[in-house]
Amino acid sequence: MSMIPLSDSTWESQSWQTLLSNTITDVNQLAELLQLDITQLKALLPSETESFHLKVPMPYLKRIKLGDIHDPLLKQILPLAVEYQDSPGFTLDPLNENAANKLPGIIHKYANRILLTLTGTCAIHCRYCFRRHFPYDSNQISNQKWETIVNYLKNQPQVNEIILSGGDPLILNDKYLTKLLQNIALLPQIKRLRIHSRLPVVIPQRITDRFVQLLAESSFKSILVLHINHPNEIDAQLRQRLAKLHDQKILVLNQTVLLKNVNDHPETLANLSEALFVNHVMPYYLHLLDKVKGAAHFAIDEDTARKLYGELLSLLPGYLVPKLVSEAPNLTSKYPISAKFD
Ligand code: SF4
Repeated sequence: MSMIPLSDSTWESQSWQTLLSNTITDVNQLAELLQLDITQLKALLPSETESFHLKVPMPYLKRIKLGDIHDPLLKQILPLAVEYQDSPGFTLDPLNENAANKLPGIIHKYANRILLTLTGTCAIHCRYCFRRHFPYDSNQISNQKWETIVNYLKNQPQVNEIILSGGDPLILNDKYLTKLLQNIALLPQIKRLRIHSRLPVVIPQRITDRFVQLLAESSFKSILVLHINHPNEIDAQLRQRLAKLHDQKILVLNQTVLLKNVNDHPETLANLSEALFVNHVMPYYLHLLDKVKGAAHFAIDEDTARKLYGELLSLLPGYLVPKLVSEAPNLTSKYPISAKFD
């Protein structure tokens, strides 16, 4: 594509599909757009090429400070050579999702909810993603007949919630989602639909009027769980779309991953909670990093996290404090981590 400079706002009026098909995947382009020293940048990059390559859309790039190699948003998307160093305890499938992968596209880990992996594609490649090695090729429900899910649920009458995850489920267009929600509406046991997505954060244009309407009109309760890690990820474009969701009374929650050198300061997390609340989003979870191979440089040990959480509690009213949690293979829920006070 011909590269539009970040300062040119032309791309802001593009559709989410156009923005999605024009993500930046080339490090030279990245350096040019962000005015980074290409020699300095290349010294940090891996020599190997892999499928989980650099991928970042323009609206997200726009929020990165020009010329700043240490920008907390840049750190989340920049592939590094250090990802290829062996780190004990960091594995390909840190949560043993393989064991909960009951059928292609269905992960059934917790008793009353199932998770559907609708697609393996994302708008952005987050370097810390715990599913960065997930075998999406053999795990996409969109390739399956809907009857597979219906039949599975018949034998699981306790399931009352469906979670759409991925990859990023909002990669699927509104027409596809309309049909999917119509199918879900035919399942009387399902009371709630939860959509986990980072796409509206990195391409706010994804919050189309049709999508908002779709959630507002569903016969079951729909919850959108966003994934925002840093207050700088919330810009005017996103604020505008969040207001539309609020106008239609859609419940929007946020989850954050605690990441070294990105958001591991109580003030940063407090600012994030404040910014979320102003924009009608409730802080939900603050996750300890899942120990996925390639992400060890983002890890914060539990003791440090507990102290940081203690400080965060002192900065916010209780309703703005996300729950600090971790996940472990084969447990029946996430487990809470308590704050530590000096
Ligand atoms: S958008 Fe979500 S699923 Fe996709 S790479 Fe980022 S964290 Fe992983």
